[in-house]
Amino acid sequence: MKNRKLLMIPGPIEFEPEVLRAMGVQTASHVAPNFIKVFGNCLNAMKKVWLAPHGQPFIVSGSGTLAMDMAAANLIEHGDNALVISSGYFGDRFKDILDRYGANTTILSTEIGGDIALEIIERELKNKKYKLLTMTHVDTSTGVLINPEPIAALAKKYNVISVLDGVCSVAGEEIRQEEWGVDIVLTASQKAIGVPPGLALLVASQDAIDIWKGRKTPVSNYYADWQNWLPIMKAYQEGSPSYFGTPPVNLINALEKSLTLILEEGIPKRIKRHQKLAMDFRKAIQSIGLSILPKTDSIAANTLTAIYYPQGISGGDFLSGMTGNDIILAGGLHPKIKTTYFRVGHMGSVSENDLIAVLSALERVLYKLNYKFELGTSLRVFEEECVK
Ligand SMILES: *Cc1c(COP(=O)(O)O)cnc(C)c1O
Repeated sequence: MKNRKLLMIPGPIEFEPEVLRAMGVQTASHVAPNFIKVFGNCLNAMKKVWLAPHGQPFIVSGSGTLAMDMAAANLIEHGDNALVISSGYFGDRFKDILDRYGANTTILSTEIGGDIALEIIERELKNKKYKLLTMTHVDTSTGVLINPEPIAALAKKYNVISVLDGVCSVAGEEIRQEEWGVDIVLTASQKAIGVPPGLALLVASQDAIDIWKGRKTPVSNYYADWQNWLPIMKAYQEGSPSYFGTPPVNLINALEKSLTLILEEGIPKRIKRHQKLAMDFRKAIQSIGLSILPKTDSIAANTLTAIYYPQGISGGDFLSGMTGNDIILAGGLHPKIKTTYFRVGHMGSVSENDLIAVLSALERVLYKLNYKFELGTSLRVFEEECVK
């Protein structure tokens, strides 16, 4: 037994060996010329991955939640109106964060697994003057993908700053930050960016930076304050040494490697790869009678799939069966329905072979749990789709 497990959860994901090797080098000083260059390369590469050539990137030690926190802390002042478009657990979290900084937050929630009509958002923006709105590109709790482009356009129309939680989408789903006019796009290292957990990544538009500069009150979070980080990012971009808080040197080495691999693959090709694999995987899953949580395939994410357990199958038995077959999947996360479904991450370095391994284990486990279907069906359907 090789005891080789496949980590197929929606982050952390399986990382490229080269990325892991880049983490293992002797740690440099954070002001060493070589490291300054690496940091600067990461900031430049982020602008290419985010498609935001004029954006201001930030790389800060922390998780995706810190990136959300940073957006809220810097852009919200006490009493500001904020609109949260929530398609699940992470949208709801954004409301909590905004509230913490004194925002008057209104939340527009989709039905679980559903989408939200643009008319509803526009009606709300017409009704009340908002300073900022947030949306979750892929809500990892439901696997629902929203289309940020028209929402960002509405935000522009009503002069509202738009913030996209792209933690489960950047480098896996299509994002054109500048063309779409999204003010903030944020993510974390351990999802489709393909670097072990520990980096909060965010790109801000010039408009967002200007709004921050025009604040009347100081940012009430010391660590997240752009006052502290903007000069550091600018220094790294210009190739000069600087210090506010020690950057996670080894993770940034890994980030440089991963962003290089992403840009070598090419963003359009990478997005297509995610879309094709996700679509083929959904077809395979559906071919044995399983159903996905998003109400339609058109709003199903390409970075993960949320799947209901079949009738009569216990989630605990299924997931432990999968682990027993060396495939690590995630349980449900949406508090209202968490025991009824599971999640399969398929982002970053994921391949057809990985999904074959998932489907094969899944069939074997379901078969042993007496779920009725013809063994091999999902594998055949997946392979047929792959060769199309
Ligand atoms: C994972 C995730 C987060 C939180 O990121 P952490 O790194 O766990 O703090 C936020 N939003 C979305 C959409 C996510 O998938």
